[in-house]
Amino acid sequence: MKEYEKTGIIGLEDLQIPSEEHLKKGIAITECVQEIPCNPCVDACPVDAISMETINALPVVDYDRCTGCGRCVGVCPGLAIFVVKTEGDKALITLPYEFLHVPEKEEEVAALDREGKEAGMAVVKRVIKKKDNTCVITIEVSKNLAMTVRNIKVVK
Ligand code: SF4
Ligand code: SF4
Repeated sequence: MKEYEKTGIIGLEDLQIPSEEHLKKGIAITECVQEIPCNPCVDACPVDAISMETINALPVVDYDRCTGCGRCVGVCPGLAIFVVKTEGDKALITLPYEFLHVPEKEEEVAALDREGKEAGMAVVKRVIKKKDNTCVITIEVSKNLAMTVRNIKVVK
């Protein structure tokens, strides 16, 4: 049984884990674990880095091909795609965001793990606001939180 089936929370065991080298380059991680008919991530990718055997299969990211552009992040209805890029002792995490208030660039926010628990603080580095659609936000956290933080909470 997969980790998320026991706890309801995705664990690293459930995911396609990138290498350190791929994380330095910046790649998309699909935290998509249920086989449902869905594939906008495949269509959104300009370099065909995401593939699926069938419409019901789980997406697989070719980390060598992925450029980390983030186009797939905002189109995923499951809010299940994150771009992670490590830089020195920091990590940039690009994530989907559908709450109000939408934070501004350089705003400090709480960094949340997959359970919604605070794992540390983050600084917002980029905000792509989309009216009536999913915003895409890039935050900077400590490198050790690269595979932990998957959401944010506005604190001010
Ligand atoms: S981040 Fe860009 S290149 Fe990588 S899978 Fe997503 S859309 Fe494709
Ligand atoms: S768009 Fe999201 S939910 Fe749909 S297959 Fe891709 S990663 Fe999974």
